Amino acid sequence: MQPLSAAEIRGCLANTSKGEAQRLTLPGPPEQLAWPDLDFLGWRDAKAPGRAYLVTPLGSTVVGLALSATVPPRSLMRSNMCGFCHTLHDAASIALFAARLAGAAGRAGNTAGMYACTDLACSLYVRELRKPFLPQPPESLTPQERVARLRQKVTAFVTHVLDADPAGSRPAA
Ligand SMILES: [Zn+2]
Repeated sequence: MQPLSAAEIRGCLANTSKGEAQRLTLPGPPEQLAWPDLDFLGWRDAKAPGRAYLVTPLGSTVVGLALSATVPPRSLMRSNMCGFCHTLHDAASIALFAARLAGAAGRAGNTAGMYACTDLACSLYVRELRKPFLPQPPESLTPQERVARLRQKVTAFVTHVLDADPAGSRPAA
C-alpha cells in the first residue's frame, strides 16, 4: 500500500473518537514501515494490548478501524484460521478482533468480529515473509492470489463495519 504519514493514519479511523485516534500508539515511525509489503497496516497498541488498529486502502481513499483484541478461552475459540489471510495458528497466535460498527448501530453496542493473526501481520504471512508456528495445509492459490484474497477479505470486513451506517461516517474520498 501507499505510505501514510502519522497524521493520515490518525485521521482515517472511522469508528473511534478523535481523542483515541490522537492517543493511540503507532506501530513505529511511518517512514520506517515496510509499506510495499503491506496490503493493510494492522497493529496492536504497544501500550494498550487490548486495542488494535487496521488501516487499509478502500477505493480511492484510506480507512482505518479501531478494534478490540481478545483471546477467548480455548474451549470457546471457534477458529484457529485467520479470517483475513487463512493462516492456521496455534491458540496463542490467533485472537478475536471486534470492531464497533459505524453510526447508530455502533452506539447501540453492536460490533463485527473476526478471528485473525494476533499480530495482524497477514500481509507478511501471505508473502511468506513471516512463518507461522504451525505447518500449513497445502495451498492451491498462488502468492498473488493469496494477496488478492487477503485484500478482498479485509475490504469486505471494513465495508461491513462502515455500511452499518448508510447515512454517513464513511470518510470523504
Ligand atoms: Zn492473518
